[in-house]
Amino acid sequence: MVIKIGVSACLVGHRVRYDAEDQHNPLVERQLASCFELIPICPEVGAGMAVPRPPIQVIQGRAGIRLCEVDDHTHDVTQQLRRYAQHVISELAPELSGFVFKSRSPSCGIDDTPRFDEDDQLLLSVGAGLFAGMLMKQFPSLPVIDECKLEQPQQCREFIRRVREYAKEKRINHR
Ligand code: SF4
Repeated sequence: MVIKIGVSACLVGHRVRYDAEDQHNPLVERQLASCFELIPICPEVGAGMAVPRPPIQVIQGRAGIRLCEVDDHTHDVTQQLRRYAQHVISELAPELSGFVFKSRSPSCGIDDTPRFDEDDQLLLSVGAGLFAGMLMKQFPSLPVIDECKLEQPQQCREFIRRVREYAKEKRINHR
């Protein structure tokens, strides 16, 4: 049975970034395409955002994080992205055995996305992007990695091992 893993679509050459470019990283396909079926997902385009589009950033407020346009914080896309993330979580994620995310992205980062204060003056912290954060919360044992960590041979091997293990456990539980 083919093991499926999600991948941020820009990493496999889809021109879905805010500037209509990609972030193609040949390593992702070189290391993983022979082992797994890669399922490209761009949460921002999936949520209905245009290409190109104004860049967004994570704002850390008292009530939690919001995703807003960098130049216009009144344009808030948090709910739009949340709805799409919920859709992926219920429809697609149960088929996946891992996910390769784009680092530092407001949607896709797993632990290194910058979070700013409301005035956009201060970098308060780093953390997960909205989509990756929701997916990881819902599926805490799903193996995830970003393309920077994938460049470390040991982390890459460990990710592949964990994906295979996760897929095996999923098969056993569904018997
Ligand atoms: S939302 Fe994710 S997949 Fe889409 S362009 Fe940004 S980093 Fe890439």
